[in-house]
Amino acid sequence: MIDVISFLPAKRKQTASGWISFNAPCCVHRGDTQDKRQRGGIKPGTDGSWSYHCFNCGFTASFVLGRNVTFKARKLLEWMNVPQEEIERINLESLKHKSIEGLLGERQAIVNHLQNIGFEDRDLPADTQPLSATGQAYLNSRKLPLDYPFLYKTMPRPGIVVPFTHDNQVVGHTTRFLDDRTPKYIQDIQPGYVFGTDLQNANWQYAIVVEGVFDALSINGLAVLHADVNDAQARLIRNLGRDVVVVPDQDEPGMRLVDRAVELGWSVSMPEWPADVKDVNDAVIHWGRLATLITILQARETSRIKIELRKKQLVKRLRT
Ligand SMILES: [Zn+2]
Repeated sequence: MIDVISFLPAKRKQTASGWISFNAPCCVHRGDTQDKRQRGGIKPGTDGSWSYHCFNCGFTASFVLGRNVTFKARKLLEWMNVPQEEIERINLESLKHKSIEGLLGERQAIVNHLQNIGFEDRDLPADTQPLSATGQAYLNSRKLPLDYPFLYKTMPRPGIVVPFTHDNQVVGHTTRFLDDRTPKYIQDIQPGYVFGTDLQNANWQYAIVVEGVFDALSINGLAVLHADVNDAQARLIRNLGRDVVVVPDQDEPGMRLVDRAVELGWSVSMPEWPADVKDVNDAVIHWGRLATLITILQARETSRIKIELRKKQLVKRLRT
């Protein structure tokens, strides 16, 4: 058993949201001052996996049982004075737990590597906090799953930080500000990135492609993060080997996404939603996750002609 907690400093505290916090060992190695306010947080999983986030300097690292200890996880363990032999032991122990899913994941990783799909590890913004009550209330009002590792930020404006992951490593983020000022979002996004690959279950037949990160989180879909699919994103989505269903926002830019989906030969779903329901997240707020998924699959069209007809109908409605 790999027990990361045994390596943590004795001075630590457990928070209600599942974080164990202690003085962050990362900051001094990254040109920041020594943390004295217990701003390092580790969130252990049930099987020995864990993720670390520094609420001071923004450093992140995670460990998934069955996989190699990543470069950043190694760094963190070193900074916690875990001896090199011990890190190697953890690595070997972890690989003993390599599952079928892990092997499939590895094969996928090789395929992705050959096709040049890959993302750099990134840190999250400095000065984030665990999700606040305001943040939780906002996520609840949008019926978003609270088990996603959201963070919160108050400076310069209050907002929810959504980490972007790929292969369970942090590769970017978006911040959704909660006041009414613009911009509503700021993002750190790498070219060709698609949000939500880590939300997909190995045995699902469909991958549902939407525009926004909250739409994707509402139904475990994939988000292309704008009303277009660039070539690198198309490659990544194809590599998942699923039946792709594109669900555009029901607005003018969304109709451009329809054209692109047809070009790529993917199916499109434009359910008959009332005028105040513009996207998947709106639908989930109205009818819940399951009912929304059913309407999406029922309205799924593969025929180019039927997609065009449905698009014309929608465009007409948007112009009245
Ligand atoms: Zn730090």
